[in-house]
Amino acid sequence: MQSWPGPPIPKLPGRGLPLRLFDSATSQIRPTSPGATAGMYVCGITPYDATHLGHAATYLAFDLVNRVWRDGGHDVHLVQNVTDIDDPLLERAERDHEDWMVLGMRETALFREDMTALRIVPPTDYVGAVESIDETVALIVALLDDGAAYRLEDGTGDVYYDVARSERFGYESGLSGEAMLGFFAERGGDPDRGGKRNRLDPHLWRGARAGEPSWASAVGPGRPGWHIECTAIALNRLGMAFDVQGGGSDLMFPHHEMSAAHAESVTGRWPFARHYVHAGMIGLHGAKMSKSRGNLVFVSRLRGEKVDPMAIRTALLAGHYREDRPWTPSLLDQAQARLARWREAVSLGVGPDAGPLLDSVRRQLADDLDTVNALSTVDRWAAEALQHSGRDTGASQLVSDTVDALLGIAL
Ligand code: ZN
Repeated sequence: MQSWPGPPIPKLPGRGLPLRLFDSATSQIRPTSPGATAGMYVCGITPYDATHLGHAATYLAFDLVNRVWRDGGHDVHLVQNVTDIDDPLLERAERDHEDWMVLGMRETALFREDMTALRIVPPTDYVGAVESIDETVALIVALLDDGAAYRLEDGTGDVYYDVARSERFGYESGLSGEAMLGFFAERGGDPDRGGKRNRLDPHLWRGARAGEPSWASAVGPGRPGWHIECTAIALNRLGMAFDVQGGGSDLMFPHHEMSAAHAESVTGRWPFARHYVHAGMIGLHGAKMSKSRGNLVFVSRLRGEKVDPMAIRTALLAGHYREDRPWTPSLLDQAQARLARWREAVSLGVGPDAGPLLDSVRRQLADDLDTVNALSTVDRWAAEALQHSGRDTGASQLVSDTVDALLGIAL
């Protein structure tokens, strides 16, 4: 699938520090330890609606991971999917009397525009669910052959994964069985479906139904489930034990748990990913921003209102990526004022030595992406420059480059 154009990334003097990130599986901040090429899979959108600020915050967090690794001398192999066939897309298309494929293409195009405007470094591999059906089916066949998957005997052609076949099931989220069942029911699972071996078993393949799109395959006509889609796309491009599996915290269970279990069953190896990293939710008026609640602020809408995408970026980075946090108009006002100060400061052409700023921002971001303090570091430099303290003629450029390369904010 077509990705989007990458922003230029200035090269900074010296080298960045090893990145430490909070890992959901161990509930610890642990160092990432990529080789020459870091591997990261960040779950993509289901394109039935536009990118809201919750999505933007998640992709921004993993964009910083990408940038910090690059600054540390690594290449980054980033893989992202587009779930361009799934129930929510079909339901929205039916509601709006629209072709599901056209809806998916339009929202994916808008997502690319939003990501480009926010200066998110594009994935190396951007892969749609539909274009990866063959590789997804190959995994389902392997799981069936191994007995880790089974076909329901009700004539639907539906295939399920047997979670009891996963030795470490639950390690990724660390949730109790009861909590798992709650999230499973809430987030697209079907705990009460008859004929399953275990209530938590997720579907791998949905047999063809009248009025729904389906594809011929070795497991019969139908369409793929979401968790196995991500497993296939990640495994075939990154292999096992890649560095970071990322997404919003609402993907921790069941999505990331199931994707990992599928991969570990298929390969007989562990782990799927070395870090499972989750971004917090953005709220509006006291509730998590979500499509089902309808309390969304769209990136495209703000762009349409001529809001500077760099102000959106700055506003979202003003909170820590793991915190659930509210979006308010004043957050955007503060970000615009902050950006204006930074831009005025670098436009002076001289300022205090920026070497310490680079060191600080590197250290802060390497510490589980502490953007709150990194932004304060830039604030302090800007305040000093605006007081005309410091006559370093190279400082402005180094500050611009640091803010651009590491925070993705173009001044
Ligand atoms: Zn995924």
